Amino acid sequence: MTTRSAPAPSTIRIGRRYRPNRLNTPYDAIVIGSGIGGMTAAACLAELGRRVVVLEQHYTAGGFTHSYARNGYEWDVGVHYIGDVGAQHTMSRRMFDFISGGELKWAAMDDHFDRIFVGDESYDLVAGPENYRAELLKNFPEEATAIDEYLRRIAIGSGMMRLLTLEKILPAPVAALVRTWRRWRSPAWVNQTTREVLESLTSNQKLIAVLTGQWGDNGLPPAQSSFIIHSLIARHYLYGGYYPVGGASRMAETIIPQIQKNGGDLFTYASVEEILMENGRAVGVRMADGHEIRAPIIISNAGVFNTFGKLLPEDMARRSGYLDKLKTVDRSMASLGMYIGLRDTAENLGLPKTNYWLYTSEDYEGSLDRFFADPDNETIPLVYISFPSAKDPAFLDKYPGRSTIEIVAPGPHEWFAQWADQPWGKRGEQYEALKEKWSQRLLERLYEHFPQLRGKIDYYELSTPLSTDYFCRYETGEIYGLDHTPERFEQRWLKPKTKIPGLYLTGQDVLTCGVAGAMMAGLATAVTAGGRDGWQLARKFFAPA
Ligand SMILES: Cc1cc2nc3c(=O)[nH]c(=O)nc-3n(C[C@H](O)[C@H](O)[C@H](O)COP(=O)(O)OP(=O)(O)OC[C@H]3O[C@@H](n4cnc5c(N)ncnc54)[C@H](O)[C@@H]3O)c2cc1C
Repeated sequence: MTTRSAPAPSTIRIGRRYRPNRLNTPYDAIVIGSGIGGMTAAACLAELGRRVVVLEQHYTAGGFTHSYARNGYEWDVGVHYIGDVGAQHTMSRRMFDFISGGELKWAAMDDHFDRIFVGDESYDLVAGPENYRAELLKNFPEEATAIDEYLRRIAIGSGMMRLLTLEKILPAPVAALVRTWRRWRSPAWVNQTTREVLESLTSNQKLIAVLTGQWGDNGLPPAQSSFIIHSLIARHYLYGGYYPVGGASRMAETIIPQIQKNGGDLFTYASVEEILMENGRAVGVRMADGHEIRAPIIISNAGVFNTFGKLLPEDMARRSGYLDKLKTVDRSMASLGMYIGLRDTAENLGLPKTNYWLYTSEDYEGSLDRFFADPDNETIPLVYISFPSAKDPAFLDKYPGRSTIEIVAPGPHEWFAQWADQPWGKRGEQYEALKEKWSQRLLERLYEHFPQLRGKIDYYELSTPLSTDYFCRYETGEIYGLDHTPERFEQRWLKPKTKIPGLYLTGQDVLTCGVAGAMMAGLATAVTAGGRDGWQLARKFFAPA
């Protein structure tokens, strides 16, 4: 069962605690936030010889890639599976190897990595393009033409992202040429909604439901999401799902040493209060303790709503037009997150290395609307269940004889807004009772598929959108930054270099959500902020393999 026994950590704290006297000034760049985008930008700039400091307000590094431990268990919060890292030549894998010095290792999930339940029926998404296609054909033999055309279109749709990324990093005149080229090359359907594209290929609603069964990975049901984000996610997982060996916190743990090259560092408990401006230029940050840190490059990984709505002085945010631009984008969905601990191994309990997506019906949009209109009486229309300890071959080393489960479901901020001003962990009985009600409903959905777990659960807790705000500073608990609508992909201001000299953006709002999407944004930001040197990175990673 267990090979080695190490004490289970009572808490996970990756990164050094911030103190002004620990700073190693002067810095070449300051990064606000230690999400994967911020860490990637910092590691890449360090590789170019820059001294970079990453400032993270949370007690541990990683943003949504952080893990936490409690009551003898450990859970990740925003890393359930990553695609495109199985083969060493893929771009995501080369990037992860680069920023982690090759220290981050990956474990493959089951071949059928995602299982989509539509009502009482279930369908598997299977790793590898041929297997994926064959499994679809097995279930929908009369839909071969639609399936093949679908596979062709997701290749084209996801390919558009390379051009969109180039547009975001190239100087304006060249970017304009690339844009013209992209628009000329793009079929009209590329940035339609996912549902529009799929309904143009087939009228089989069950097939559409299966093909869009990963919509929770970007937070917008198919009638609202851009086909570009759908294609990117579908292609990302086409060769299967992978999990970081040792858990999500291994990301920050392995990337920080790269950031520390040239005297850089990553500090936690380091809340940035304001971006300092001088003569129209971003020149540093003011910390919550009043201390000021200066650098010629300021990179914000805090998301555009925080950056322009909170960190930038208001007159600058208004004059530069960014406050108006915020009106052109929406915040993504918020969720309930359930973290479960069991006193037996995944193997003994029969927990799979497969994600379960439980949908009540193939009408994803309608069931969601009905649920939001009447949450107490409607069945939760999407419940996602993940089994991290089953996916992680190193879990039992730290937690012998134990296992974990995580559940995610839609949970709007409004349900909890009345407690938003109250301190974390002390929101009172009514809040706890509401959480308990949702916990029980989610557990019942788990038992429907894993009845053997009834009576076996040792510990559980529920996070709400207020937790997402508290730990990662997303005000309405949005879990994917901005909504991935067709309009979002037309926003040219969502790019690394802002109109404000010295200020750059990175992370999921720049390209797309997802660990790989935010990581690529980190690279794009380093390319842009690195000046001439930055193009070495671009040539290394963006040039066709
Ligand atoms: C529940 C959930 C499940 C997910 N599952 C997956 C998955 O299976 N696979 C996948 O690829 N993606 C998944 N994602 C998405 C993925 O985790 C994110 O898209 C990605 O990690 C975002 O990275 P980022 O660089 O944008 O930064 P974030 O992770 O958003 O981090 C931003 C950081 O900035 C910090 N910050 C903000 N303001 C300040 C300030 N003023 N001072 C200092 N620090 C500040 C925050 O504390 C935070 O740490 C999931 C997300 C969630 C929430």
